[in-house]
Amino acid sequence: MKMPNKLPLTIDDNEYLEALRKKKTFPLHLHIDGSIPVGTLFSMAKKRGRVLKLPKKDANEQEISYSSEKERIIDSEEKLREFQYGLLSKYHINDVFDIPISFMQTRDDIVETCVALSHYLRTQNSPYAEVRFAPQYHLTQGLSLTQVIGYALEGLAKGREETGVTTRLIASIDRKVDVERAIDIVNAVLCFRNEVLGIDLACVENGNPPEKHYEAVKLTFGTQLKRTFHAGEMCSEEENLKNIYTSLTLLQAHGISHAIQLHKRFYRGYDLIEMMVRNGVRLESNPISNYNFFINSVADLHLDQLLDKGVFVTINPDDPAMWPQGDLVYGLYHLGKLYGLKFVDKVIRNSVLCAWGLKTEEKMSYLKEVM
Ligand SMILES: [Zn+2]
Repeated sequence: MKMPNKLPLTIDDNEYLEALRKKKTFPLHLHIDGSIPVGTLFSMAKKRGRVLKLPKKDANEQEISYSSEKERIIDSEEKLREFQYGLLSKYHINDVFDIPISFMQTRDDIVETCVALSHYLRTQNSPYAEVRFAPQYHLTQGLSLTQVIGYALEGLAKGREETGVTTRLIASIDRKVDVERAIDIVNAVLCFRNEVLGIDLACVENGNPPEKHYEAVKLTFGTQLKRTFHAGEMCSEEENLKNIYTSLTLLQAHGISHAIQLHKRFYRGYDLIEMMVRNGVRLESNPISNYNFFINSVADLHLDQLLDKGVFVTINPDDPAMWPQGDLVYGLYHLGKLYGLKFVDKVIRNSVLCAWGLKTEEKMSYLKEVM
C-alpha cells in the first residue's frame, strides 16, 4: 500500500515538539487494541509465559519464508514494535491486531489493558479521552458481549482511579459482520446506555457501506447514545463521499471519522460541509493514520480550510501503537508546522467542545486551562 511521491514525516524542531507535549490533549478517537503500549503487551506475554510469533503469511496472504522456527519468535519489545509497524505494508491487519486482542479475552486481561491505556494517556498529557473497542473481538474464551463491555468499563474506571485520566467508552461494530450480529452488538450496548457513550462502525469500509447496518444503528435513535462512524477513509473518492453522505443522513451521525475528501465538499450536489456544520457533527480526523495508508501528506486533508468553514475539526491518533509517530502530539506537530499554533489551539479546543462525556462545567474548566 506504499504510495508514490510520499513526503517523509520529519521532525526537525524538537523545541516545538516539546512545547506541544506540554499542551493538554483530549483524544476522541482511539482504539484500545491499537493503543496498548508495546512494552505492556510484551510484559503481559512474559508474565503469562506466552510465546508470541510472527505470522506464517504476509499482508497478501503469501507464505513468508523463515530460516527457522526460532526466527518467528517475537523475543523482544523491539521485534514486537517492528511487527506492529508492519501493519498492512508487511503483515495482514488481522495478524497484527490479533496480538493485542489476544490479551483482551478474560476479565482480568481486559481490565489490565484498559488500565495500561489510562497510564499511556497520562503520558500523553490527556486528562480526558474517548476510547473505543469492538466487543465482538473479545469472545474467544467464552465471554459474552455484555460481559466484555462491562469489564472494559470496569478497567477504564480502575484506570481512572490509578491515573486520574477520565476515559469514556464507545463500542465499535466491525462492519464485516452480518446485519443480525450488528443488531446483537447494539442491543448489548443498549444494556449500558448510561455508561457507554455511543456506537461506531469500523474496520473494512470497502464492500460494507454504512446503510448495511441501518437496522442496527436505528436501535439507537431516540436514545442518548451518540453515533460516530468511520466513513470516507478506504474507498474511492466517490464512494468515500457517498459514505459520508449516508452516515450524515440515513444514520444520523453525531461524528464522522476520517472523511479524507470532505474538503471536496459536495456529493451529488449535497453540501457535506454545510450539513456537518449545521448539525454540529464533529470530524474525528486521524492525519497520521491516513498518512500511513491513504494520503501522501497531511496537507492533503485540507484541515485548515475545513476549520475555516466552521467544521468541528478534532485531531486524533487512531491506533498510536501501530506506526511510527503514532502519538497524538506528532499529528499536532505536523499540522502546527503547516498551519501554525493557532490552528493547534483551535483543534484542541474543539476536542473539548465536542467531547460527549464532559459536562458543561468540566468543558468550561478545561477550556480555561487550554486557552
Ligand atoms: Zn479508527
